[in-house]
Amino acid sequence: MTDAARRIGDLREQLRLHNYRYHVLDDPIIADGEYDALFRELQALEAARPELADPASPTQRVGAEPTPQFAEVVHPRPMLSLGNAFNEGELAAWRNRAAGLLERDDFDLVCEPKIDGLAIALTYEAGRLAQAATRGDGSRGEDVTLNVRTIKSVPLALQSPEGAPPRMEVRGEVYFPRDAFRRLNEEREANGEPPFANPRNAAAGSLRQLDPRVTAGRSLAIWVYQLGWAEGAETPPTHYETLEWLRELGFRVNLQEIERFASLEGAAAYCEKWERERDAKNYQTDGVVVKIDRLDYQRHLGFVGREPRWAVARKFPAEQAVTRLTAIGVNVGRTGALNPYAMLDPVQVSGVTVRQATLHNEDDIRRKDVRVGDYVIVERAGEVIPQVVGPVLERRTGDETPFEMPSVCPSCGSPVARDEGAAAHRCVNAACPAQRYERVRHFASRAAMDIEGLGEKLVAQLLGAAIIRDLPDLYDLTKERLAGLERMGEKSAANLAAAIAASKSRSVPAILSGLGVLHVGAETADLLARRFGNVRRLMDAGQEELEAVPGVGPIVAAAIAAHFANAGNRDIVDRLAQAGVEAIDAEPPADAGGTGDLPQSFTGKRFVVTGRMEGFTRSQAEAFIKERGGQVSGSVSKKTNFVVAGEEAGSKRDDAERLGVPIISEEQLTAFAESGEAPDVPIAGALL
Ligand SMILES: [Zn+2]
Repeated sequence: MTDAARRIGDLREQLRLHNYRYHVLDDPIIADGEYDALFRELQALEAARPELADPASPTQRVGAEPTPQFAEVVHPRPMLSLGNAFNEGELAAWRNRAAGLLERDDFDLVCEPKIDGLAIALTYEAGRLAQAATRGDGSRGEDVTLNVRTIKSVPLALQSPEGAPPRMEVRGEVYFPRDAFRRLNEEREANGEPPFANPRNAAAGSLRQLDPRVTAGRSLAIWVYQLGWAEGAETPPTHYETLEWLRELGFRVNLQEIERFASLEGAAAYCEKWERERDAKNYQTDGVVVKIDRLDYQRHLGFVGREPRWAVARKFPAEQAVTRLTAIGVNVGRTGALNPYAMLDPVQVSGVTVRQATLHNEDDIRRKDVRVGDYVIVERAGEVIPQVVGPVLERRTGDETPFEMPSVCPSCGSPVARDEGAAAHRCVNAACPAQRYERVRHFASRAAMDIEGLGEKLVAQLLGAAIIRDLPDLYDLTKERLAGLERMGEKSAANLAAAIAASKSRSVPAILSGLGVLHVGAETADLLARRFGNVRRLMDAGQEELEAVPGVGPIVAAAIAAHFANAGNRDIVDRLAQAGVEAIDAEPPADAGGTGDLPQSFTGKRFVVTGRMEGFTRSQAEAFIKERGGQVSGSVSKKTNFVVAGEEAGSKRDDAERLGVPIISEEQLTAFAESGEAPDVPIAGALL
């Protein structure tokens, strides 16, 4: 073996160990910087010695090319579903049945949090990850190996391959950690993209991406909860010991939380404790799984249909409640959109007191026919703000009043406008205090100018005391003035002043995002930055010049032009420039004016475009798709992935419906380009 080969093997072993310490044991023994240095050294050596490539190397998580579709996987042993117990009585009944069949009463129970994610089967051959499959219908799932490889807590190779069975399958739940989910939604909202409804949907969507690079950007994680099967090796006699063994092999097992009990009382107390504490964890749970520990007892008990007799899901109560809607309030967003929300009689929804819930917009209120005074069903789905599902019609008395959107802005009293064809009402007064608050808050956010320490409360305080009136005033805040504020220490004031100063050197896309131009998300901001090089040139560009930027359609171009046609908005940019925000008048880089590399969101996808669009001509839409790696054909077939249908779409739309091809709108197409995320169009049999 050469020195290089030895060093490569050594580095792979070290990095694997550090991954294990970090992701499985949560106990790293080196600093991130040291890890990065080892990682880069390995990358460089591997690049120089391609003949030593190994798919199980820690460097090989991402990089696979997008696949056209997921292959079907037949599970060698079906993935089961669990029976439910909704209260302690049902849990006791389950245990009693098992005791009767076992003809004994002295068996241990293992309790584990039931993660609300997606069940995955991981197959390892010779200690290496060979396949990852979704649960599907329990018998057949989809091969999502390339995507699962990007999840850092899934080992590509096991800790001690010698001790591992030659072939084995483990099962686990892939989920979106709450903190990562919140960050993702913050970014999406800042980019003008709709937030994901809850971590579970987001995890499902991320796992079913045809491009693994999208999945890699999503920070998914796994908890392994069971051995599926193992060939050619002795395995432990109980479930709990099996979990310990799996953890030694390198799997991330939630042993900090999993407990074994000799009595039903212990298990029941565990369930109660979890129901109380579930919101404090960084993962979503929808219950506790209780299993009989000894595997020989499990075999003896067997199954009823698809459900094992040796395990049960003690489910938490549904996250819905009924309460009275006492009033409908209206918030004003940063672009002036009026957002109605429900004020409720306080009600407990899965352990949290809910007083307000979103109602989206006027059309939604009409569609659901929600009236003031109604009893309504309120739902809390994971991290999302609670929403009103609909009224309880049986409890109507006739005294309820339908909602009227106010004709003037609740914050500033200016008349409200409604955009043609759009759902939202808007306050068009740029000086509106509510909009100002949202604008400053957004400007300072991580997705824009990233001013650390300038949070919601402080923004409200600064505006409320008229210390600032709008964005540029932020740059007049000195350390001394900040230190004079209530509840502000010297140190925080100094840090904040430094953070504000540092934000002057943010990039063009960060500034564009911070200015809150309608329809300008991250991708569009990048395209514009590349084309114009600084904010000033962009601001002075006319609609025609903007439309000439590939990827910018007439609607977006019009929105940008309208934004910068407004004298107040131009004034803000001028004052930011005077305050020293550099990228406004920066010398454009030499390569500005090119189109740059567009993200290839549509690689491997076939589209058919039909009907009349608002923002594109037919040929512009086709160019838009091709520039992003997609194919366009003239007629719909089974191979078509999406039909983009505008107004008056005729026979092609019918063909798509007949063949079960997803039909998407112009907006869904642009959102797809922007996020890389295929739109969620329900097609029978095509979903998880
Ligand atoms: Zn207003």
